[in-house]
Amino acid sequence: MAVSHNEYNRPRILIIYTGGTIGMIENSETGALQPFDFTHLIDNVPKIKKLDYVINNIQFNPPIDSSNMSPMHWRDIAVAIEENYDTYDGFVVLHGTDTMAFTASALSFMLENLHKPVIITGSQLPIGEVRTDGEENLITSLQIAAARDSQGEPMVQEVAILFENYLWRGNRSTKMSADNFNAFKSNNYPPLAKIGLGIHFNEEVLYRVPSKRPLKVRYTMDTNVMFVNLYPGMSEKILTHILHTPDIKGVVVKTYGAGNAPSDKWFTDAIHDAVERGIVVLNVTQCVNGGIDSSRYVTGDCLIKAGVVSGRDITSEAAITKMMYLFGMGLPADSVKKYLSYSLSGEMTI
Ligand code: ASP
Repeated sequence: MAVSHNEYNRPRILIIYTGGTIGMIENSETGALQPFDFTHLIDNVPKIKKLDYVINNIQFNPPIDSSNMSPMHWRDIAVAIEENYDTYDGFVVLHGTDTMAFTASALSFMLENLHKPVIITGSQLPIGEVRTDGEENLITSLQIAAARDSQGEPMVQEVAILFENYLWRGNRSTKMSADNFNAFKSNNYPPLAKIGLGIHFNEEVLYRVPSKRPLKVRYTMDTNVMFVNLYPGMSEKILTHILHTPDIKGVVVKTYGAGNAPSDKWFTDAIHDAVERGIVVLNVTQCVNGGIDSSRYVTGDCLIKAGVVSGRDITSEAAITKMMYLFGMGLPADSVKKYLSYSLSGEMTI
């Protein structure tokens, strides 16, 4: 049951507009979609004024397509939340869908001890279009950011993605569709809320930080990490070359099924050699659902013997951003390995 707000405690929400389709308009010459400014966005959602909230906004200048998102932008979003943390009850981040799951994952690690909602949303159709999904997504996000539980505490105290009918944990989410309005999904975690006639929170699965310590923002992400996506036919020459990339500190290997990889000697030797040289190798599955169980097959066991860390049921987006975050803290490889095995903000099932 939610506690309602009275005149004196109208919810205060900060919208951080980064760009994405939600705020785009057609370029009159080329017909291609390009980001537009926030004034236009609010003008297209007059219903927002019906919410009895105090809503302010800040925006990226210029707003960007999320394909251009980088750790510098994550830092900007994190700083905006940190600087306004005490003034607002919740935050709504408007973001393109393409890299939304990466941003949500990155922020979930950067914003340590988060006790307020950070709801990331966007849309498949620009907000000015007649059939847009942006209007509903924005309004529902604002309502979720303002929602309180029966104790009067913020209902959501984590980074989450709201899209169409569901609220998902940010670091468990993946973009599933380039056209559906229900574009996101957590394949290994239940929805935090279902959106229909009402907003139905699944309270047992909402994340709660164990301590009441104040928000601590980590700004630095180390980008000396990369993915290696396995495929039949990958050659020794290519793998060895990749694993000798200058300055590389961490590799997320996207393996088959329950964490399997070729058991060829050249393959396991190349991985073992990388581990011996201090590179942290994390095993995640290429499958959209399920996770790593390396001991199930000999082909997975080889990786354990080579010193690879199991990513269990973590998403690729959370895996790569978690590595950036841990190396960004300046931790040595052994500590990075240790923390990769822990769930830091609900990103893995332990
Ligand atoms: N290319 C757009 C972006 O990610 C797609 C979208 O917003 O849906 O910014």
